[in-house]
Amino acid sequence: MSQAQVDVSEVHWLMDMFQTVDVGLVVLNCDYRIQVWNGFMENHSGLTPRQVRDRYLFDLFSEIDEDWLRRKCDPVILLKNRAFTIWEQRPYIFKFRNYRPITGSAEYMYQNSTIFPLSDARGQVTHLCFIIYDVTDVAVSRIELESMNGRLKQLTKTDFLTQLFNRGHWEENLIQEFKRLQRYSHTSTLLMCDIDHFKRINDTYGHAAGDVVIQAIADAVRQTLRATDIAGRYGGEEYAVLLVDTALDDAAVLAERLRQSVEAMLINYNEHKIKVTLSLGIAQYSSEMKEHRQWIEASDKALYRSKANGRNQVTRYHADE
Ligand code: GH3
Ligand code: MG
Ligand code: MG
Repeated sequence: MSQAQVDVSEVHWLMDMFQTVDVGLVVLNCDYRIQVWNGFMENHSGLTPRQVRDRYLFDLFSEIDEDWLRRKCDPVILLKNRAFTIWEQRPYIFKFRNYRPITGSAEYMYQNSTIFPLSDARGQVTHLCFIIYDVTDVAVSRIELESMNGRLKQLTKTDFLTQLFNRGHWEENLIQEFKRLQRYSHTSTLLMCDIDHFKRINDTYGHAAGDVVIQAIADAVRQTLRATDIAGRYGGEEYAVLLVDTALDDAAVLAERLRQSVEAMLINYNEHKIKVTLSLGIAQYSSEMKEHRQWIEASDKALYRSKANGRNQVTRYHADE
């Protein structure tokens, strides 16, 4: 082979590589008119090199934010710097549909890109070269991971059986509210309640029936609440509700409503219709309480009185007890 033939075949190879490489290669002149467009770009856009040749980039791809991309490219032309775009910043430069089966959940191809200057023999920047990387796989798995973390966070806050806040998260809320009440002259009331003779339900109908009852009472609690109230499952069949900006008298009305609605409930379990009652205790915040546990103890004391006095009732806590 002569030297000329070798050179020609090398150019062929280069052209083949340029066409088949799995990244997008685009060359623009400094007026943002497309000069070069490889196979990757053709395959994903459906536009041939001939169709895009000399076309103004922002006319052809109206989805590209011109100001943003020019701001990226100016230093490439003026300072001969490289520039980068990442999908976290903007999901893509070119809006290509995503057809990959694995990452099918993404509608469009996520892209990173590198932009670098091409100079003439005198060192003058005359063109810009874009390398477009398809990063859909990475982006989709990252996005899924983040949404999973969000769900996980939610799971650590909620009680599985009742979907109320679990005790830990509920108590965190209580601590926040306690601090707020120490600073500002608001008042809130804490309600604790416990299902009466619950062991009998488990003993008579089985543990699964007990679970259904716990869920049904959680629903009743939810229905009695207002949007600002914060309810949690405090223990097995104990519930705690923070009645925000509510004085003791108003809390008593709410608690009584809850007591009556539970008393009237018939809970279906298989062929059984189960009836239960609730004992409740309420305690208003007092500035004499030095920490939130004292508030819990106060409402628990009131709850205990409801139990001792025959159950199925609401008892208010009084500080002089
Ligand atoms: P009292 O009226 O004095 O409250 O009587 P009680 O029978 O309800 O007594 P207590 O509150 O001590 O009983 C709680 C029972 O709840 C004991 C436990 O076996 C049961 N329990 C706790 N958590 C669960 C649960 O998640 N599911 C079911 N089915 N039972 C539970
Ligand atoms: Mg009980
Ligand atoms: Mg109990």
